[in-house]
Amino acid sequence: LVVLDHVEKWYGDLHVLQDINLSIKRGEVVVVIGPSGSGKSTLCRTINRLETIGSGTITLDGQALPQEGKALAGLRAEVGMVFQSFNLFAHKTILENVMLGPVKVRKSSKADAEKRATELLDRVGLAKHAPKYPSQLSGGQQQRVAIARALAMEPKVMLFDEPTSALDPEMIKEVLDVMVDLAKQGMTMVVVTHEMGFARTAADRVVFMADGQIVEEGTPEEFFTHAKSERARDFLGHIL
Ligand code: ATP
Ligand code: MG
Repeated sequence: LVVLDHVEKWYGDLHVLQDINLSIKRGEVVVVIGPSGSGKSTLCRTINRLETIGSGTITLDGQALPQEGKALAGLRAEVGMVFQSFNLFAHKTILENVMLGPVKVRKSSKADAEKRATELLDRVGLAKHAPKYPSQLSGGQQQRVAIARALAMEPKVMLFDEPTSALDPEMIKEVLDVMVDLAKQGMTMVVVTHEMGFARTAADRVVFMADGQIVEEGTPEEFFTHAKSERARDFLGHIL
């Protein structure tokens, strides 16, 4: 569904993505882990073209990602993204936050968008909070709204960049539970996270990055018990 082929990116002298080759199948859940600064966020951001790439190609469902313009907006709408910070619109209600994308970008009718937003809020366990404003919700609840908002666009793939790292421990689980559900329902997902429990239960594949390269990849079982590279074993030694 998403194919990165020989993707290279530089920030000035820094070779932040080095010959990245990654093919993500429909319904697959890929967890990306690696040390700080290894390029995980940059990788996510290139997949929905928040960042341009130097060379190589990225295709989504067989279509090359355009660099700019209307075509880019259209394709970007098919990639849902959830960040560490929730970035909800503070002056709009939870319901309005989830309705906004479909109404503005997909040109859905208000009635349709509201019906769908209500269903999605129910799915993430927040139906009764629909009329509230973001500041009235906990961090974990806000992050679940952010997930519902991304899902409202009916994306083909969902990217998560450390979605729980800004949350208090007791809120992490409620967000991970929503993500596990989503994975079970067959959503294609790329998840940057340090939550190894999530990686073990939900990932089909773990990709380990260091210094802008994919150093190794494998099933969670392979990776956590028999990491091949010294780099990965060293990293695991520090976090497990
Ligand atoms: P973390 O785990 O800390 O989130 P990461 O793996 O997500 O790290 P990136 O944010 O992708 O790492 O950054 C990779 C490298 O690129 C880092 O060395 C970072 O300093 C650098 N970098 C990121 N964004 C920019 C930018 N806009 N301009 C220049 N350098 C950047
Ligand atoms: Mg990052």
